[in-house]
Amino acid sequence: MADMKAYVNEVLDLVAKKDPNEVEFQNTVKEVLTTIIPVLEKNPQYKEAKILERMVEAERIVTFRVPWQDDKGEIHVNRGFRVQMNSAIGPYKGGLRFHPSVNLSILKFLAFEQTFKNALTGLPIGGGKGGSDFDPKGKSDNEVMKFCQSFMTELYRHIGPNIDIPAGDIGVGGREIGYLFGQYKRLRDSYDAGVLTGKGVDYWGSLARTEATGYGLLYFVKNMLDAKNIDINGKTIVVSGSGNVATYAIEKAQTFGGKVVTCSDSNGYVYDPDGIKLDTVKEIKQVRRGRIKEYVEKHPNAEYHEGCSGVWTVKCDIALPCATQSEINLDSAKALVANGVIAVGEGANMPSTLDAIKYFQDHKVLFAPAKAANAGGVATSALEMAQNSERLQWTFEEVDEKLKNIMKNIYESSKKNAEAFADPDDLVAGANMTAFKKVADVMMAHGIV
Ligand code: NDP
Repeated sequence: MADMKAYVNEVLDLVAKKDPNEVEFQNTVKEVLTTIIPVLEKNPQYKEAKILERMVEAERIVTFRVPWQDDKGEIHVNRGFRVQMNSAIGPYKGGLRFHPSVNLSILKFLAFEQTFKNALTGLPIGGGKGGSDFDPKGKSDNEVMKFCQSFMTELYRHIGPNIDIPAGDIGVGGREIGYLFGQYKRLRDSYDAGVLTGKGVDYWGSLARTEATGYGLLYFVKNMLDAKNIDINGKTIVVSGSGNVATYAIEKAQTFGGKVVTCSDSNGYVYDPDGIKLDTVKEIKQVRRGRIKEYVEKHPNAEYHEGCSGVWTVKCDIALPCATQSEINLDSAKALVANGVIAVGEGANMPSTLDAIKYFQDHKVLFAPAKAANAGGVATSALEMAQNSERLQWTFEEVDEKLKNIMKNIYESSKKNAEAFADPDDLVAGANMTAFKKVADVMMAHGIV
């Protein structure tokens, strides 16, 4: 045990030394590596083959200039990125994020997470992530289109249906995927529909892809709660965010009989004691691209509070962080536990800091980690790729049924490894061990590449 712990510490030191400023990347590497020591113990060949050192080094990273002109004729220059982390199991797969906070550390953390998440789905996809520090907020459709076209004019060289298949993430939804696909098609002069996922259903997109991450989160959480004979029906649920993941997490939570009382955006959160009216949220966010504070104009019983972290002080049984990374810190975790939270399901990527996760686990809160709980989005993207290869479109029900099974399998395989090697309720360790072993074994099979 001591030997492998020392090996893990060596690799963590190496990562910190190579890229001292990449805090997000260092944190995610630490989260994974410190939980897989039992697998390393059982498989000493991984150390010999330097599997960890290879996994923490991206196979390829591209950064590029993205110049574009706004509606007034002013020229802007953003930075574009694609991190191709690991292609052992299949072509690189992972979303594009457009947000001013985007930098290499965040994208490496997301690509590293994605590699293991994709392995958990059981589908043939490797891990990648990309994006830009471009902020789509407040931009006209024309400006967003011009940015997407300029971004794709460089990115197209690095992607393809058998190479790397991007999708959406924060700031990249159906509109952006449409513009990106249109430009890719023009540059390649070929209808390679499988190059992007999250496409519109009329041009080879999959039914249920829009809903998949949020629905999948609830399927995972339901599996976790069912095992403890806890029913979602009647539970008070706090959700953060009001984008793609949050919207469909709220929708499915309500279908299961949960009472969702909050949602938020980067300015503040809404508390509706009567339960969030999802039609209003969709109208504000999907139709008008407005701010969540507008919710209270229509529902005077609800309250709007400036600032995001206050959402975790609202009393609830279940918390579903669905906005962004590190949104639940130790103080937020303490507030949730003090208010009696019984389960946390991560819809966003790494929304809980490492000390917050430990606090939840120490206080016996059932915890569904992001790489397992939010894998429904990428799993359905892989189903979109399968449909594109077949040149067929499956029904909503078919895709949803497959999604349910995938989430059940992810839960069961994570639980099995948690029971075998860690605390039986430690799904963080369970998911990490399951995914790591799969990627490591394939890397071993491929030799030193
Ligand atoms: P969207 O852009 O659709 O929505 C993001 C939401 O989070 C918005 O409400 C946004 O508010 C809020 N938000 C963004 N940044 C911050 C911040 N720094 N502080 C507070 N709130 C913030 O993104 P998605 O719903 O697609 O993604 C949400 C999370 O889920 C991300 O972590 C993403 O990586 C993860 N994820 C997404 C998947 C998908 O299929 N889309 C798949 C798996 C994971 P505002 O409108 O003010 O920006």
